[in-house]
Amino acid sequence: MPSPLPSTSNYIGRFAPTPSGYLHFGSLIAALASYLDARAVGGRWLLRMEDLDPPREMPGAQDAIVQALEAYGFEWDGSMQRQSKRHAVYEEMIERLLREGLAYPCLCSRKQLEAYPGPYPGFCRDAGQPLENAAIRLRVPNLEYRFTDRVQGKFGQHLGREVGDFVIRRRDGLFAYQLAVVLDDAWQGVTDVVRGADLLDSTPRQLYLQELLGLPQPRYLHVPLIIQPDGHKLGKSYRSPPLQPEQATPLLLRALRALGQPTAPELNDALPGEVLAWAVPRWDADLIPRTLTLAEAQLV
Ligand code: GLU
Repeated sequence: MPSPLPSTSNYIGRFAPTPSGYLHFGSLIAALASYLDARAVGGRWLLRMEDLDPPREMPGAQDAIVQALEAYGFEWDGSMQRQSKRHAVYEEMIERLLREGLAYPCLCSRKQLEAYPGPYPGFCRDAGQPLENAAIRLRVPNLEYRFTDRVQGKFGQHLGREVGDFVIRRRDGLFAYQLAVVLDDAWQGVTDVVRGADLLDSTPRQLYLQELLGLPQPRYLHVPLIIQPDGHKLGKSYRSPPLQPEQATPLLLRALRALGQPTAPELNDALPGEVLAWAVPRWDADLIPRTLTLAEAQLV
């Protein structure tokens, strides 16, 4: 059973896009769900740009994302934060984890590891590798980390057997999403993470990091992925088009329906902000389906 909606305005939610591309319909579903879940209880809703990976950033994507959110009527609290401004915090944590022996330098190349699909085989775990040109991996315990997602239900992963020691700073010095997201959610006081189900299997790693660093664990709601008629997840090869400003009202209505929420005919002519204002008091996370077919998402 999904847990009940939080009933206080201590709620802090966030939308945390990566500027590797424009927002598309799947991002809209995640943004809308996190926004409505926060506003329905009078909570705050933050915007965080996860710009950790400049080589993979698409020029102009940050501005385009902000403009799309504005055109779709979203209003966030405070100013947008950028992960690119937080490097000192991530670095300090890496150094602490290394000092405490909880993380270690790894010199294995991608090529070497190709022969070992599955969890990292731990070659550098106790090898005392030098720091120079090394990736930094976090030692994971031989334990299962579980949680109950508000939509997807119980989910767990055995970190030792299924995940393995994972990278928290890459060889090229870039910080990994898993570390940054946990530090930033805690720093911003996020109580509720609402995001796409593609991140469900990142969550046990994040739970471990939260436990290790003594950070509070937010509640999680993973919105459904879109499933193809043959039962496969919508692959990366499927490119849904960037959100267009003039499509805001119809796409917001489509996203509401995809999330199992009510809509009304008079909204067809409403402004995007009016659609959101209408949807806030009617939000019911219990109506969100666990999966969505292409047809249900009305993409075909
Ligand atoms: N930046 C991630 C993405 O765009 C989302 C991170 C999160 O919501 O935890 O996929």
